[in-house]
Amino acid sequence: MSVKAYQDFADGNAGAMGSVYDRSGSVLWSPEQPAQRAFYSLLGAPYQMIQNSVVFQYQTDLLGKEAYSAWQGAKSLNGSGSDLFLTLDGNAQKTVSNLLEANGVSGLVAACNASTGALRCLVSTPAAGPDEVVDTLPDGALLNKTLDTITPGSTMKLVTTALLIEQAEENIFTYRYTCHGSDTLAADGKAITCSTKQTEQDITSALGYSCNTFFANAIQTYLSPEETAKTLQRYGFMKEGKYSNLGKLNYETSSILFQDMTFASVWSLIGQVSEVSPLDMLRFTSAVVHSGDAPTLYLVDRQSNRTHDKLLGQFEPEHQNIMAKETADTVKEIWFNSYDTYYDKSSYPDSVTAAKTGTAEQGTCENKKIDKLLLGYSQEKDLVFFIALKNWNIELITPQTVSQVLLEQLAE
Ligand SMILES: [Zn+2]
Repeated sequence: MSVKAYQDFADGNAGAMGSVYDRSGSVLWSPEQPAQRAFYSLLGAPYQMIQNSVVFQYQTDLLGKEAYSAWQGAKSLNGSGSDLFLTLDGNAQKTVSNLLEANGVSGLVAACNASTGALRCLVSTPAAGPDEVVDTLPDGALLNKTLDTITPGSTMKLVTTALLIEQAEENIFTYRYTCHGSDTLAADGKAITCSTKQTEQDITSALGYSCNTFFANAIQTYLSPEETAKTLQRYGFMKEGKYSNLGKLNYETSSILFQDMTFASVWSLIGQVSEVSPLDMLRFTSAVVHSGDAPTLYLVDRQSNRTHDKLLGQFEPEHQNIMAKETADTVKEIWFNSYDTYYDKSSYPDSVTAAKTGTAEQGTCENKKIDKLLLGYSQEKDLVFFIALKNWNIELITPQTVSQVLLEQLAE
């Protein structure tokens, strides 16, 4: 259909187009009801303001398959159309988005069911509503940050723990390193610094304290760049091309450039330098907690006719084994133990089983900004979540508070 015909249709016969619902059947978008600001960057509208959005990319489905006739034009679509049901939890999306906006936080919150890969929350702030004047919007308000990449900070160490287990094998359990706060790399003489407790670390305490120098040394001792590149690809972090698919939407592909033992390369596995997709991180973490089986993440659960008595399509959850069960179970055990032993669990929701914090540095020395990150898993809800609060400072809410609100909203 031409853009013109489509616009005629959307303006004149809006009732013929289907609606978009959340998982519980609440309307998130319909021709009569534009998306609210908590959903707008993800759902968009049937014109080209946000191309990488549900309503724009699924407009043919919403209009009804092959219903359009060039002879009859817009009239051919009267009474046609189909409805889409998303996996999203509308209440969680709205509550978390409002929380971030009320606290002046720019950031993202993504969560999925770790078994099925159903995405429950894809919050991005600052948000914008469909009626706002584009020129007056804050930067990035029309781009959903969960579909972009982000510097993962120390949340990356969960991935590096898996790499170490695969390549160092049982040696990693006896490996010890005493942190001195700073360590010079043999390859280029640059120093990796660390602000953790300067004591002897093993893999569990290093993950718990987030010791940079332990990881820098373990990386240099055990990891091969060639093997690591292959493994990261298997984990889903280094796919071909700039974008990956989330149904008919795109999201930016992760890029982790570990090529040698120089500063930027080693840092890329400790959490700076790399650019990681929050969605790739959710998928990887889901595999860690489920025997190495990574679910395909999905947002559109099913398509039905307007009266909901005929199913036109349904996503069948699918999995790919990205690491041996033994590896996944070992990473999981180390992660859960590191959280149990080294984290102040009183600042986390009770339903959190394990978490990994991170801080990512942005900008130059004089103008340094930090992003606060949190990757977590709730076993009782079988949910994996990833939170990033940008340009964070001590006066803003913490990722832990955000996780509390998120998990209160999500039953599973
Ligand atoms: Zn340290």
